[in-house]
Parts: sequence; structure tokens; C-alpha cells
Amino acid sequence: MAINTNIEETSPELERLKKLYADKGFVVTSINNLINWARTGSLHWMTFGLACCAVEMMHVGTPRYDVERFGAAPRASPRHADVLIVAGTLTNKMAAALRKAYDQMPEPRYVISMGSCANGGGYYHYSYSVVRGCDRIIPVDVYVPGCPPTAEGLLYGLLQLQKKIRREGNIKR
Ligand code: SF4
Repeated sequence: MAINTNIEETSPELERLKKLYADKGFVVTSINNLINWARTGSLHWMTFGLACCAVEMMHVGTPRYDVERFGAAPRASPRHADVLIVAGTLTNKMAAALRKAYDQMPEPRYVISMGSCANGGGYYHYSYSVVRGCDRIIPVDVYVPGCPPTAEGLLYGLLQLQKKIRREGNIKR
């Protein structure tokens, strides 16, 4: 594999090289593309199940949905995880724990907010004990709507996150 780091991703020079090497067993790409390709194919998710949404999050790891085909495997430690999935109702009591888990994740880190409760408090929006959206505590990349969102919904959210990483195209966040 030949890697050229000096050529812009969409430059005519790159197109010329691609054509030149198309039949010769070469692949020409940028280092950003290569790293993001690897990154989007190994999005290990940290489970942060807080309530009923967590059951749908568990479904996504079962053979029926088989999220591992996208390179996303569940991790029990924030230090091993790339994506934090906030699944359920975030209470004031748990907010500090959520922030702590997020702070322990290595960069680049991503967050998926799953379900109405995590997105904005949901049914418990006016409760004295519930945070009205986990984005008040940590930055969120993708919101998955629904109460509860389906496992398919979460899968779609994960695909949207992959798309976002590819679109941004940065190595560093
Ligand atoms: S959004 Fe609905 S399913 Fe999810 S945690 Fe809240 S009440 Fe439960």
C-alpha cells in the first residue's frame, strides 16, 4: 500500500495517481483517511445503562443485530472505550459518575445519547431529581430519539457516528 501524506484528499493529482495505479495493485490514500477508516471500524462502546433504554442497548449486542460486524464491541471500562452510550434516565445523583466516566475516556471520544430521557429528561423532564438532558453534563455527538428507541435506532445512530467521523476527517478532535 502506498501512502501519500502530502496530497490533498480531493486534488487532481490524487485522482491522476489513483487512475495510474488502479490496475497495478496500489491503493493511494491520505493518512487521515487511513486512521479514520481504522477508527470507524473499531468503535468500542462503553455501556452506561441507566434505565429501560439499556435493555434495547443490550439487544444491539445480540446476534440478531450483531453490532460487532461494524467493529463495535462493548467495553466495561471507560479507559478502553471510544464511544459512551448514555442509555436511560440520568438523575442528578448519577451526573457526577457520568462526568467521571467521560473524563476517563481517552481522546478522541464520542457520545451517543440514547432515548428521550438521556436526550432531554423525557417523561421525567419536570422531576426534581432528573437531569434534563445528558448534554448538560457531557458533549453529545449523536442523539437517538424514542422511548425507548429500538435496537435498530441505536444501530442507525452508530452508523451516523461513523459517518460524522469520516466527514470531519480529522485525526485530532
Ligand atoms: S426514554 Fe423511555 S425507555 Fe428510555 S429510559 Fe426513558 S422512560 Fe425508559
